[in-house]
Amino acid sequence: MTTTETKELTHWVAGKPIEGTSGRFADVTDPATGAVSAHLPLASAGEAAAAIDAAAAAFPAWRDTSLARRTQILFRFRELLNARSGELAELITAEHGKVLSDAAGEVARGQEVVEFACGMPHLLKGSATENASTSVDVRSIRQPLGVVGIISPFNFPAMVPMWFFPIAIAAGNTVVLKPSEKVPSAALWMAELWKEAGLPDGVFNVLNGDKESVDALLSSPEVKSISFVGSTPIARHVYETGTAHGKRVQALGGAKNHMVVLPDADLDLAADQAINAGFGSAGERCMAISALVAVGDIADTLVDKIAQRSKNLRTGDGRRSCDMGPLVTRAARDRVTGYIDAGEAAGATVAVDGRTAQFDADGDGFFAGPTLLDHVTTNMSVYTDEIFGPVLSVLRVDTYEEAIDLINSNPYGNGTALFTNDGGAARRFQNEVEVGMVGINVPVPVPMAYYSFGGWKNSLFGDTHAHGTEGVHFFTRGKVVTTRWLDPSHAGLNLGFPQNT
Ligand code: NAD
Repeated sequence: MTTTETKELTHWVAGKPIEGTSGRFADVTDPATGAVSAHLPLASAGEAAAAIDAAAAAFPAWRDTSLARRTQILFRFRELLNARSGELAELITAEHGKVLSDAAGEVARGQEVVEFACGMPHLLKGSATENASTSVDVRSIRQPLGVVGIISPFNFPAMVPMWFFPIAIAAGNTVVLKPSEKVPSAALWMAELWKEAGLPDGVFNVLNGDKESVDALLSSPEVKSISFVGSTPIARHVYETGTAHGKRVQALGGAKNHMVVLPDADLDLAADQAINAGFGSAGERCMAISALVAVGDIADTLVDKIAQRSKNLRTGDGRRSCDMGPLVTRAARDRVTGYIDAGEAAGATVAVDGRTAQFDADGDGFFAGPTLLDHVTTNMSVYTDEIFGPVLSVLRVDTYEEAIDLINSNPYGNGTALFTNDGGAARRFQNEVEVGMVGINVPVPVPMAYYSFGGWKNSLFGDTHAHGTEGVHFFTRGKVVTTRWLDPSHAGLNLGFPQNT
């Protein structure tokens, strides 16, 4: 592994960069070259407490800042991000590896949540009832929680934190963001942008670290909620530990997304979309398609069309206009190629072999090419496990019923897609499928910012999805105020339960 110009990264607390003092560090790598690009401090519990304290200290003033002023800062953040989104995309590509256009797309989808949160004055409106009882009025309001913790995965260094923090901040909360230690620079960059936008110090803090920081957030009484996105075992741990400490928790987990192709579908469209959804971002998306379910007698044709198209894909350094970049780490790459080996050994046909692909990159990057496995069965590890790489497994079934059973028997329920020209089949599918996000002829059905994002079953622990009105609800709590003014009839002492008159 080559080492070039290694940056020393920091935390971001109370509006400024803070050097790590724990003595623990992680290497951040450029996945396209394999070079170590930065050293990242991993926070101790004491450093985590300092970040939480900074957020707690900033909360009262931020909560009391008018909605008008808070949203002005959101609008400024939006303008700055629009002007400089290219810088953020470059940082993402340099640490995650995804190609620049994909990184730009991620930033754009995150920006949509900022835009949604700019509407917070409307979203926070409560309701009121006049004269609910004689001279008694009732109104409901929603108030911020306090310090909120966000723990994000490596695969969307900007977008996933942005699912949460624009809404949390606009609603009057203060934030401690713990980004993935593999891709920390996007979070630090966004912290500087907030400062430039005029956000008061301490409202947005970045705590770099690993399990120790996560556990500090989960156990701190100052932290009122946790928004987590990552793999299922950690999501479950975060949900169980956070709720045991009395917090509200939304913990989004892993996925195994199926794309069903019915015999009447446009197979050219299906082949294109299977490639886009299976190999985009090297399969490192929680909404990536990893299981392609071919119904009836179309499998040979579909596999052939995908295999032909795969030959035209260029895999390499994300800065070189390639279609697909590397995996995030060497270990992730080895894990992916290990699954391909295991699938082949278990009897799958390797129709396109990413282990032997050529890559357009210098150095020793973490590459695996697009891989298509045919004749995969439900007992193979390539089907049972979330591979999180550019591996598309084809399962062959005879009927729609078998396809839906396959999906509904799977422990995950994040995203799914159906390709068909039959409106009745589509309607039946959206009704019957036990998955949180469904696409009809749309392979990656990521909801708009004003809808909510979230899966079912092992893809989400908790009952609240990310962003949209569910996000506003998550980052606020309700209060109902009952008032009596100008009541001429003072009723005197009455120890009975209040009755409406
Ligand atoms: P991960 O679970 O390894 O890490 C996620 C976060 O948890 C990181 O910040 C990490 O530092 C922290 N963490 C890791 N191990 C921990 C531990 N033992 N205790 C406490 N915290 C710990 O996930 P990842 O590899 O960064 O991301 C990929 C996973 O995220 C995939 O499973 C993918 O499906 C999932 N994901 C899900 C969604 C969704 O919306 N459901 C979105 C993006 C990614």
